Amino acid sequence: MIPIVLIGAAGRMGRAVAEALVGADNLCLKARIERPETPAPGGGVGAWGHDPSAVVARGDVVVEFSSPAGAGAAAQLCAERGAALVSGTTGLGTAEEEALRAAARRVAIVRAANFSLGVLALRRALASALAAVPGSWDVEIVERHHRHKQDAPSGTALQLAQDAASRRGYPADALRLGRSGRVGPRPEAEIGIHSLRGGTWVGDHAVVLAGRGEWLELRHVAEDRGAFAQGVLAAVGFVATAAPGFYTLEDVAGAAAQ
Ligand code: NAD
Repeated sequence: MIPIVLIGAAGRMGRAVAEALVGADNLCLKARIERPETPAPGGGVGAWGHDPSAVVARGDVVVEFSSPAGAGAAAQLCAERGAALVSGTTGLGTAEEEALRAAARRVAIVRAANFSLGVLALRRALASALAAVPGSWDVEIVERHHRHKQDAPSGTALQLAQDAASRRGYPADALRLGRSGRVGPRPEAEIGIHSLRGGTWVGDHAVVLAGRGEWLELRHVAEDRGAFAQGVLAAVGFVATAAPGFYTLEDVAGAAAQ
């Protein structure tokens, strides 16, 4: 059995992961961690607590969907204790990204802005669509998320934009977050990202490739957080036996296909 410490356990993703764990054979929920100001609801499998350092031990897999600060702190603690980490929080700053990279020199870490296997398929479909249309076609991304989401644009939209920018050889400043005012003609080496926030959208990403007189759209819609949770469980199984390093969902899917 792989013991799991879930950080951000009372949140939307924390609850979806805990629910998915109920049916998993070789995984057990050891502890559920919430920040001190959030009352732990209690109940269910795994003790509730506020201090991950009181529970995380060598051989555990920590799963965190919390906050940028929570992600950085979890990475540091995992490196100190010899625990693997599956990290899903988006909107990390440079310091937190560096904390994860540093921790990955000592323990195995899977990090993904989106744990849905459908989004992995969208990224692959985008790569082949970009190879099939002229390089002059414009790339625009529209993402929709629920009204409580903290960061914009979404980590997934940034990932899709970066995928397209690197395939096209665009400069690092090619990403345009929304437009307003007299923006002039659209530069060719630009990728627009547009973030809608409202209601209860779980996650919706559309990539539009627009040419002269025609366009196509590649779109993924997550209707339920269970879509992310299944990818998280696959990542837990992978990271539990992986050598120290920084891994992506592609590494997890690649290992599962072998
Ligand atoms: P949420 O606000 O519903 O839940 C976050 C929970 O983490 C809250 O209960 C909060 O109290 C807790 N928390 C915050 N900081 C903490 C800390 N330091 N220690 C312990 N608990 C802490 O948010 P959510 O919708 O569950 O999303 C969480 C994160 O996951 C966001 O960054 C979101 O963008 C990201 N997300 C990623 C994926 C993915 O597939 N990678 C999917 C959905 C959401």
